[in-house]
Amino acid sequence: MSEENMEASSRRRRRVQRLKKCIILTVLFFIFLPTVLCVVLFVKMYNMDKYLRQLSERVDILTEETAEQQDMLRELLESRQVIGQGKQMESETSREPAGYEVAVSEPEPGPAEPVVTVEDEKVTEPAETEEPTVHKVYLTFDDGPSSNTGKILDILDRYDVKATFFVVGKESEADKEALVQIVERGHTLGMHSYSHKYAEIYSSEEEFAADFEKLRSYLEEVTGVTCDVYRFPGGSSNTVSSLDMHVFMNYLDSQGVRFFDWNVSSGDASSTQLSAATLAKNATRGIEKQDTSIILMHDAAGKPTTVEALPTIIENILAMENTVILPITEETEPVQHIQQDNN
Ligand code: ZN
Repeated sequence: MSEENMEASSRRRRRVQRLKKCIILTVLFFIFLPTVLCVVLFVKMYNMDKYLRQLSERVDILTEETAEQQDMLRELLESRQVIGQGKQMESETSREPAGYEVAVSEPEPGPAEPVVTVEDEKVTEPAETEEPTVHKVYLTFDDGPSSNTGKILDILDRYDVKATFFVVGKESEADKEALVQIVERGHTLGMHSYSHKYAEIYSSEEEFAADFEKLRSYLEEVTGVTCDVYRFPGGSSNTVSSLDMHVFMNYLDSQGVRFFDWNVSSGDASSTQLSAATLAKNATRGIEKQDTSIILMHDAAGKPTTVEALPTIIENILAMENTVILPITEETEPVQHIQQDNN
């Protein structure tokens, strides 16, 4: 081989080498770039997640503080009722995947008769009543079914008391079985919306009706029961609905369905888990002073202290004089935070 040829071939080799290097670098660059981008995005996401969690914690704290203040206010108002003026405040707060709900009740103390709030009844209760009033207590569980439903049902069975479950649309086999058990063991099955997503159900009457229909027919299909009682997610006095709640109240009325709020709150809606002792104390507070007490509790997997508190709650109520625990039925006087138009 001539020197010229050798020179040319070595040049070619070098060129090929260079080209190879170029290709490898390009490939590496395109591997490297998405990796870096991924890392950057991951860090950003992590920070955002942390920030969201901090925000959510702050919301929880604020929510709890609000609940405490409302409780204090409630006690204050209750003491004022003795001199003839009734007003009550209750709150339900709960954190859902889609956000959180805050409900505040401000029942008008007006003299409307068919839907009488417990407070009104209390005010007009004459002192000279001879016969002892039977205090009716209703245990209600929202947001179920859950992995706790079975435990709750067993406790209720143990004390032979019936309760009311305001359920949402959960369709696993275990949930279906829990729904059947609620009915078979003699409890009242109530509705609490299919999705429990405020932004959806409270966006229009059509959305509300569709959600209502979906849950009602689902429950009918699973249990054979056509439900006629409803609890609004967040209560009728919630502050999250974009529409006047009367729109939905009237819709329920047109469907022959009554809604029930509550006038005793266990406090288990708080995302900061309260102890069983605190829940039991909250759930039985003021019962002996009211003719009708509807206690708000939750049947949710993340609320073990509700299950833990339940035996104490039942025992304490059963120990009260002239007090009975009942499931919600047609005869039950509803407790409603907001009065219905047509009543
Ligand atoms: Zn709820």
